[in-house]
Amino acid sequence: MAPTEQKIWIVNENPIAEVQPDTFRLETRPLPALKDGEVLVQVEFISNDPAQRGWIQKGSDPERAYVKPVRAGEPMRAGGVGKVVDSKSSKWKTGQRVYGYLGWADYVVLPEASIMMEAIDLPGVTAASLSVLGMVAVTAYQGIFEVLDCKPEHTVLVSGAAGAVGSAAIQYAKHVVGAKRVVGIAGGPEKCRWVESIGADACVDYKDPNFAANLKEALQGYADRYFENVGGQVLNAAFRVIKRYGKIGICGMISGYNGKIDPLPGFFEVISNRLTIEGFLVLDVAPRYGEIVQKIAGWAKEGKIKLDESETVVPTKIDDVPQTWQRLFRGENRGKLVTQLVV
Ligand code: NDP
Repeated sequence: MAPTEQKIWIVNENPIAEVQPDTFRLETRPLPALKDGEVLVQVEFISNDPAQRGWIQKGSDPERAYVKPVRAGEPMRAGGVGKVVDSKSSKWKTGQRVYGYLGWADYVVLPEASIMMEAIDLPGVTAASLSVLGMVAVTAYQGIFEVLDCKPEHTVLVSGAAGAVGSAAIQYAKHVVGAKRVVGIAGGPEKCRWVESIGADACVDYKDPNFAANLKEALQGYADRYFENVGGQVLNAAFRVIKRYGKIGICGMISGYNGKIDPLPGFFEVISNRLTIEGFLVLDVAPRYGEIVQKIAGWAKEGKIKLDESETVVPTKIDDVPQTWQRLFRGENRGKLVTQLVV
């Protein structure tokens, strides 16, 4: 029988710094009757993205934001995979599994345009549409091939290397580009060993007191290309090891997302070593999303991309969805952090 109500997380108060226990509230609401062109989706998997922290920032300027901010009183936005359980859409049928912005909810009624594509199933992967063939994989592709234009003769440095985007970037740089040397930066020795196991020639722990010296040693020279996911002190150290005329692709700066912005004394290196910095957003390659996913799927088939262990899947009750998301900011994931909704 079709459900009559939904449990849905609402932004209660937009945070300035750390997320608080009252940043979100869980509401039980009656599900509206479907109108023409709408679908009712049962949410199965939720994507956890550092960017969601930016979307809820208090006082963010909509003119400068790349997507509409989520204001207090609005449902929390999140990508997800779910099953269509009722449909008045000519595009999406009951029983189909779909990927789109489903939000933090157990059931959700959406206009058909909110569904981006049919979910991708891959053997051995729980939620491929969110992980190895998801937005994070496309972001890594954009950074490595298009923004940084990595070549076999390059030494490539990647921060956030044990995360969803970073672990894909490491594998593309090593196994697809065939870059001369690929070095990761991650938090802790265990994560670093994992980054090496998926293809990095070396991985350096940014929490180690000798991080800067270790980084220089691991690179065995300077980096031609730097894929930046972290910002702050990691970027500061990286500035000093990028080759003259080298290039930095800025994908993300998670270290600043909870209101902690580090000063960047290393920025002078941009001048003294004529570095190029380019920020990029996966939204810009959205029209080619399907084509890029096909390419990545091809590399997976050829064994160039490791599929197992590419996700940290956390079975979570709807009541605990915000807690699972916050694991991202404590480094409690390897590869993509996926919430699996359970009753
Ligand atoms: P991750 O899977 O990398 O998860 C976050 C990781 O960041 C954690 O596991 C942790 O790893 C690290 N981290 C968390 N807090 C801090 C901190 N304070 N300082 C340093 N490291 C921290 O997330 P994603 O792969 O989804 O995203 C990675 C980056 O890419 C983010 O900055 C995100 O905003 C960005 N992004 C950008 C996109 C674009 O279009 N430009 C699209 C998608 C993502 P560790 O244990 O190693 O510290």
